[in-house]
Amino acid sequence: MPSKLTAPRGTQDILPPQSGAWLELESRIHDLARRFGYAEIRTPVFEGTELFVRGVGETTDIVEKEMYTFLDKGERSMTLRPEFTAPVMRAALEHNLFSQGPQRLYYVGPIFRYERPQKGRYRQAHQFGVECTGFSGPEADAEVIALAWELVRSYGLTDATLNVNSIGDDVCRPRYRQALLEHFRPHAAELSADSQRRLEKNPLRLLDSKDERDRPFVESAPAFASVLCDACREHDDALQALLSACGIPFVVNSRIVRGLDYYTRTVFEITSSALGAQSTVCGGGRYDGLVKSLGGPDVPAVGFALGLERFLMMAEAVHGARVAPRDGVQAIALGAQARAVALPMVMELRRLLRAPVFMDFDDRKLLAHLKIADRNKARYALILGSDELAAGTVVVRDLETREDRRVPLGRAADVAAALGESRA
Ligand code: ATP
Ligand code: MG
Repeated sequence: MPSKLTAPRGTQDILPPQSGAWLELESRIHDLARRFGYAEIRTPVFEGTELFVRGVGETTDIVEKEMYTFLDKGERSMTLRPEFTAPVMRAALEHNLFSQGPQRLYYVGPIFRYERPQKGRYRQAHQFGVECTGFSGPEADAEVIALAWELVRSYGLTDATLNVNSIGDDVCRPRYRQALLEHFRPHAAELSADSQRRLEKNPLRLLDSKDERDRPFVESAPAFASVLCDACREHDDALQALLSACGIPFVVNSRIVRGLDYYTRTVFEITSSALGAQSTVCGGGRYDGLVKSLGGPDVPAVGFALGLERFLMMAEAVHGARVAPRDGVQAIALGAQARAVALPMVMELRRLLRAPVFMDFDDRKLLAHLKIADRNKARYALILGSDELAAGTVVVRDLETREDRRVPLGRAADVAAALGESRA
């Protein structure tokens, strides 16, 4: 017996009716981004490996241990995209978008990270994110945060918290680095292996550690706010004032640093108690140095990435599994002769109605057809048996109220109109 074929570890098949919740989320995302003036960008699922090494940063979890890297048949090192920001900036640079002024771009799609699969953590996951480039002031930070928050708000995810922090710039980051080094060095031997290795290279990363051994030292670490330079302090104060003015609730959380190396000043995360250990659904911030480090002009940028799997987990925790409302029509033809009459009408109804029109082609009793209608969550049944055929009518049954109406079996447009009437 051949072994059973299964999806790769850490990946998920998204089946109906769950796929309905995905489609709904994606369509709300496209609508929301459009209302904020963001246009969609699509980039390849794989890129040359160097893009991520340079664009994400060598001391990050992603580059250190999570990339799906392979040699293609031409011996080039390729990597399945573990995140979108570097590819989006690569594409914007390659196609000269930055010379056309500020850009507002968004994306939705899969990312790939070789992680230990667990609840809310997969090897193929999906992200929605935005990148706003060309503005160095706090208004862009506020806009990007407002966009992410609006998605959370519109879903009524009341258990979500917006955490903001500043991690400074070239002027004050070295001071903070020093303060952290002095804080962690005396305890170096007690830290996790990852943190020991990162301590001298990038002590900020230690604040991001999820390792229990690091926790007490992370909790007692100094906050960046104590060493922010005047320009960064001003930026941060202005952002907080804008968020308040927009009615967006937030908490200042000095432990938020983000895992990627390219952030400057603003960093933020949206967390939820509904998610368990993987409590962050959305992370973002400002990364003014990234485009330049990829060989481009000095273009400031701010953005976020939001995990769709975790977002849907939050939605389900708050609202329960999605219950789709009844919608559409089940055409029920009893017998071959009725089917022959019903089928062309069904095809035409599918052109006339926005709602789905279902039809089962097997010989079954009416009751069995009605069961299928329930499974399809149809709102109406259109019943055509031999009596109806003889009388030249069709029965329109409202499956919610159980009311029957007879409609002449003529043009589909009349039936569509009858359904339209019953729906009103
Ligand atoms: P974490 O700290 O949970 O590993 P991260 O800092 O690696 O997250 P980002 O790179 O900022 O995450 O990605 C943004 C969002 O994408 C996360 O907040 C999460 O919702 C989602 N995400 C990232 N990696 C995964 C994954 N392996 N499985 C599911 N969702 C993920
Ligand atoms: Mg991660």
